[in-house]
Amino acid sequence: MSAKTVHIKSFGCQMNKLDTALMASALTKAEFALTDSVKEADVVLINTCSVREHAEQRVLSHLGHLKHIKKSRPDMVVGVIGCMAQRLGDKLLEHEAVNIVCGPTQIPQIADLLKQAFEKNEKRLAVTEKILQKTTENQNQTLERFESAYGIEDKKIPSQAYVRAMRGCNNFCAYCIVPYVRGPEVCRAPEAIIEQIKRLASQGIKQVTLLGQTVNSYKYKKGERTYCLADLLDAASDIEGIEWLKFVTSYPSDEFFDEILQVMADAPKVCNYLHLPAQSGSDKILHAMNRHYSAAWYLELLAKARTTVPSIAIAGDFIVGFPGETEDDFNKTVELLKKARYRNSFIFKYSPRPGTTADKRLQDTVPANVKQKRIAELLAAQEKISDQLSRDFLGKEVKVLVEGLSKKSHSNIGDSGDNPQLVGRTATDYIVVFNGQVSLAGQFAKVKITRTSPLTLFGELI
Ligand code: SAM
Ligand code: SF4
Repeated sequence: MSAKTVHIKSFGCQMNKLDTALMASALTKAEFALTDSVKEADVVLINTCSVREHAEQRVLSHLGHLKHIKKSRPDMVVGVIGCMAQRLGDKLLEHEAVNIVCGPTQIPQIADLLKQAFEKNEKRLAVTEKILQKTTENQNQTLERFESAYGIEDKKIPSQAYVRAMRGCNNFCAYCIVPYVRGPEVCRAPEAIIEQIKRLASQGIKQVTLLGQTVNSYKYKKGERTYCLADLLDAASDIEGIEWLKFVTSYPSDEFFDEILQVMADAPKVCNYLHLPAQSGSDKILHAMNRHYSAAWYLELLAKARTTVPSIAIAGDFIVGFPGETEDDFNKTVELLKKARYRNSFIFKYSPRPGTTADKRLQDTVPANVKQKRIAELLAAQEKISDQLSRDFLGKEVKVLVEGLSKKSHSNIGDSGDNPQLVGRTATDYIVVFNGQVSLAGQFAKVKITRTSPLTLFGELI
């Protein structure tokens, strides 16, 4: 078979970015050639997200577009990968444009599925039949082999990589589809994770982000000993070449929390950044969401984090308009957000997801216009705090890992001759824009902050 070209389009979270990078790596090894152009591609793979309905609608509209392209290119193979593939299975396969449907657990089979699609010209479905059952030892081994065999550089940031600490989730928050599409929690063996980070360091990776849906609850029992996330961070800190370690996302829980904060305080490579979604500030809504904490207890957790790591930057997630959310419940969320003083928050309107307990048992009672009003109000409250926190950086020097050219063009950031605008991130995940040479991409740089906006710092290279 001559080298077929593959275009991969990715929707969704960091976990999906990692899956996309793994797929790209595996396909390159299997002698497919990656292309940025859909028009030239023999294969188009769409890595999908099911967390909100909107994400699925975008995929469906993209498939509509591909159906159109396939009229003039009937040999083009289209694969739908990931969470939406697992959720919709054969219904998606019925779509005129789709040749392959492949769930997250079946990603290691992707090169074979493509070869079969070309050789036999048949539609192929590869998803897990009983997703809520624990993955078998066999499946775990296949996933582990796949995971550790490939280099997983993020193309956008040449020196940063994601490393999975755990797959799946056991939490079953009432609104969330993740446990139904990614299956139960499985933690990878610490030695596999550390070996992988060592290999990445030897390839020039400087920043590693450990991933898990509730990454702070990572635990792996080996003989008498239980390894937790703090142990992983501690061991990874010893790896030469690795300079920054981050981890996302955390679930508000005190299990291992002290240990994680302590390693953050003690190990200079562990970035002082914590993404700890609260979702709501109303205890009634938190209970209905099946989140196992109260608003007051959550704020105590933040206070503890700030006592142990004074410079910690904290990010949050919120859902507005969850079934039954009254004006009073929403006001409690605004209050919590203000008290938490997040550096930024990801705020979403509740989106009913088929099969989740909220969708089965609760009516989507909050009207769309009320959800819209609440999201705007919460975003405005967050913007004010983000703006105040950003201003603290004025005149200060920050260390950034340079990602590359800034996608947006910003005015007024100080003139640095002919150098283009670059973008990078600080250890605490602030976005920094400055002028510099493109060759800085993937390197660390020092920038003096001269102007700020709520979500971006602007400055000059020192
Ligand atoms: N595991 C992480 C956690 O527990 O926070 C994140 C999981 S989810 C992929 C990312 C965010 O999407 C959640 O924190 C939540 O705010 C939001 N989300 C999940 N399900 C949602 C839904 N049905 N409607 C709106 N937002 C949702
Ligand atoms: Fe979804 Fe809750 Fe698991 Fe996060 S912890 S992935 S929100 S079920």
